[in-house]
Amino acid sequence: MRSTQDWQRADAAHFLHPFTDFQSLARKGSRVITRADNIYLTDSDGNRILDAMSGLWCVNVGYGQQALVDAATQQMQQLPFYNAFFQTATPPAIELAELLAEVTPPQFQHVFFSGSGSEGNDTVVRMVRRYWDILGQPQRSVIISRTNAYHGSTMAGASLGGMSGMHAQGGLPIPGIEHIEQPYWWKHGRPQGLSREAFGLQAARWLEERILAIGPEKVAAFIGEPVQGAGGVIIPPSTYWPEVQRICDAYGILLVSDEVICGFGRTGHWFGCETLGSQPDLMTFAKGVTSGYVPLGGVMVGNRVAKVLIEQGGEFEHGYTYSGHPVACAVALANIRLIQRLGLVEHVRDDVGPYLAEQYRGLMDHPLVGDAETCGLMGALLLVRNKATGDAFPEAVSIGMVCRGHCFANGLIMRAVGDRMIIAPPLVITRAQIDEMMALIRRCLDLTLADAQRSGWLS
Ligand SMILES: *Cc1c(COP(=O)(O)O)cnc(C)c1O
Repeated sequence: MRSTQDWQRADAAHFLHPFTDFQSLARKGSRVITRADNIYLTDSDGNRILDAMSGLWCVNVGYGQQALVDAATQQMQQLPFYNAFFQTATPPAIELAELLAEVTPPQFQHVFFSGSGSEGNDTVVRMVRRYWDILGQPQRSVIISRTNAYHGSTMAGASLGGMSGMHAQGGLPIPGIEHIEQPYWWKHGRPQGLSREAFGLQAARWLEERILAIGPEKVAAFIGEPVQGAGGVIIPPSTYWPEVQRICDAYGILLVSDEVICGFGRTGHWFGCETLGSQPDLMTFAKGVTSGYVPLGGVMVGNRVAKVLIEQGGEFEHGYTYSGHPVACAVALANIRLIQRLGLVEHVRDDVGPYLAEQYRGLMDHPLVGDAETCGLMGALLLVRNKATGDAFPEAVSIGMVCRGHCFANGLIMRAVGDRMIIAPPLVITRAQIDEMMALIRRCLDLTLADAQRSGWLS
């Protein structure tokens, strides 16, 4: 086995990492992860780390699940690849399509496969515009999304996303994509003195205002994550999604739910739209569909769109070499059956989800924690400088990065998004493991508080 230093040298010399400042990483050196089991990672120095981010929001069934390994092995031996382009199909792709129709809400009977979430959202853009084209309304091409949304990193995915840093590189967004403000109560509702519920309605009505400003006859679709993930686990008020649904219905606009993080049990239902209260026409999925063991994504296509594409559309000139990849589909089948067999959706909804919510409420007594919220097994802590006023730390302090540093040093993976510390642990996590995670979180918060006191950031 190569030494950590040796790995880091080769890594810095050749590997351009995603979303990374190459020079700064080369200076610090990567942390090299070599193995994992259940909810724990092991790095190249032999450190054990509790992975409260499920890899990258994806390892829903945890690491080391033999059923997924066996499914991949058997499928690779029998048929490692065949395409689905020219009137062909493979058994795993057909069976997965059938199973997805069963576990998704009733309006979904069809699926279009991609290799990732970003590609799935590229398919959404192509499909939504194709749908209105077939219906003789090609001018309906505008897709409305939200600030701080994350929908992937391809040209279409990054355009749908609302990350200004991404838009600034490469001339994005592409034409025909607009953004409204996100339903972030702390930032937009609290300063106005609005209750969460009242703010949820206001935030949804920003959509209506934008539709009217653009002209409803030009708007094709609205896309949103049920809970914004990469944007900092922004959990909308309960009033938000039902009002968005009402508005989309009123103007005949397609509703797209990006379920790449929220799908496959994360929020305590199979899909986030079921928890947050919408009935989308299209759903993007990836990540949890295979628990990240192999790449796979896709779009669930609701009956309204499927009927038009199938009956009136002719050829849809779009697809990927790996649409319906048999090995990826075999792993997804094993993964979904395992979620069913272990009852993980119910485990989140009835047991560990409510337990985590209770633990997070308990963190509100910590001097640094201004807000603590969860939805299923997603959680966010807002670090504030002054609890009474809710004042934020100066940006230059990067309080989130300070806290994240302590997490790394103490065997916990928790992610920082600005001043929000976020988690999304594997769905197999137990109450005892949540206790272990909470003890680590408290220790890291205390260490961060000590830094803040020592450096005079609190006064
Ligand atoms: C991760 C993510 C994507 C992009 O998926 P990739 O597989 O990285 O392309 C899209 N949407 C959401 C909500 C995501 O979290």
